[in-house]
Amino acid sequence: MEHLVIIGNGIAGITIARNVRKQLDMKITVISSESKYFFSRTALMYIYMGHMKFEDTKPYEDWFWEKNKINLVYAHVDKIDTDNKLLVLNNGETINYDKLVVATGSHSNKFGWPGQDLPGVQGLFTIQDLELLEKNTKDIKHAVIIGGGLVGIELAEMLHSRNIHVTFLIREDYYWNNILPKEDSQLICKEILQNGIDLILKTNLKEILSGKDGRVRAVVTDKGDELECQFVGLTPGVHPNIDVVKDSKIETGRGVLVNEYLETNIPDVYAAGDCIEIKAIREGAPNRLEQLWYTARMHGEALAKTICGNRTKYERGIWFNSAKFFDIEYQTYGFISNVQRAGEKTFFWQDKEMKHAVRIVYKEDDKSIVGVNVFGIRLRHKVFENWIKEKKTVGYVVNNLRRANFDPEFFKKYEPAIIKEFKKQNPEMEESIITEKTFS
Ligand SMILES: Cc1cc2nc3c(=O)[nH]c(=O)nc-3n(C[C@H](O)[C@H](O)[C@H](O)COP(=O)(O)OP(=O)(O)OC[C@H]3O[C@@H](n4cnc5c(N)ncnc54)[C@H](O)[C@@H]3O)c2cc1C
Repeated sequence: MEHLVIIGNGIAGITIARNVRKQLDMKITVISSESKYFFSRTALMYIYMGHMKFEDTKPYEDWFWEKNKINLVYAHVDKIDTDNKLLVLNNGETINYDKLVVATGSHSNKFGWPGQDLPGVQGLFTIQDLELLEKNTKDIKHAVIIGGGLVGIELAEMLHSRNIHVTFLIREDYYWNNILPKEDSQLICKEILQNGIDLILKTNLKEILSGKDGRVRAVVTDKGDELECQFVGLTPGVHPNIDVVKDSKIETGRGVLVNEYLETNIPDVYAAGDCIEIKAIREGAPNRLEQLWYTARMHGEALAKTICGNRTKYERGIWFNSAKFFDIEYQTYGFISNVQRAGEKTFFWQDKEMKHAVRIVYKEDDKSIVGVNVFGIRLRHKVFENWIKEKKTVGYVVNNLRRANFDPEFFKKYEPAIIKEFKKQNPEMEESIITEKTFS
């Protein structure tokens, strides 16, 4: 019987194992040195905040794996020998494979700051990081978080929930404005400030200082300010974890290099999830890193088909993502650039409190939508995916927003205010576009 071995039991690796098992009776082994059982990394924050126990973050019961003949190995892979189709583990054991998937995830970034390895300074990615965070933040009063991405704001919320005063140091002009347009990131900045977090913008970390006990005691910014603290969270993004691949014959760049079928340069070796770098198909286009839960799952779904004999391209389809910034839920569908692109126009509405907002970007010529950002209102994924695919006009979308809304019944509805604002901003737009109501 053929043996499929997967390094990494994150969402990418587990999606492959489960989908292959549904289709084939091959031997499947999943190896991970982080945890024996698959858990939801995106739920780590809720463990710290006391909303969940680690057990609750495991989507499958422990008996599931044996019942489905998926063999779990809790060990670290030290070496991949592709000539002999062999893995060497840190416990001295070896495992032979017929097909191999590298799904080793990411590492948190560190940029060589003086003091970055001091006790009391850490990133947040693994379950071990969470355990360390428990120790590092016990009885502390003030924390500084460096780097304004999605994990940074989660860490701010986590620490805040334990009454730790947080200073959030961000090098950009506004929170996450390398991704979000200005008004959108201003809305999130307001939410951060309203939650009592100190937000310092346009400022870089220069160094981290230690006290007499050898632990972190302060950070120094590039503006020369010294901020006293007992903890520093480093969250300036992640990079693909290619440690185990580097000394093998598998080709790497920033990540494990794969083609659109998620195949590496070595036959029978594939890769998926945060660790991959997808080679550009068009000449001159950049290679792609995709480091999200959803994309890792989609890699896994496509690759499982290929492993089962139905060679399938990974196609990202219409982009989507979601996150939560303190109390504000965020969803994005299609493509919204932080700076408006040529040939595109934007409709933006937000309520007075800056707690709810909708941004629709559309083509100037035929008014078809290219993307939407929404804050504080829940929209149905499938509906928006279809509207973008079907090139619905901005007028249609504004008029039919209530069809996509799945806020609970008793929530305040914002659609009348959104339609009113749309008409106000677009007096020149033909009435037929503004009131296009037919749905297919
Ligand atoms: C706190 C936090 C919150 C997040 N929130 C969101 C969110 O809201 N939305 C979103 O889309 N994304 C979010 N992400 C990102 C998302 O979790 C990742 O994109 C996703 O988990 C990647 O899955 P993966 O399967 O590629 O890798 P991982 O989940 O990283 O799994 C890889 C596994 O492989 C193991 N491994 C690596 N090398 C070896 C080796 N040599 N031997 C054995 N095992 C090895 C690792 O220890 C790890 O357990 C969040 C990330 C974090 C840290």
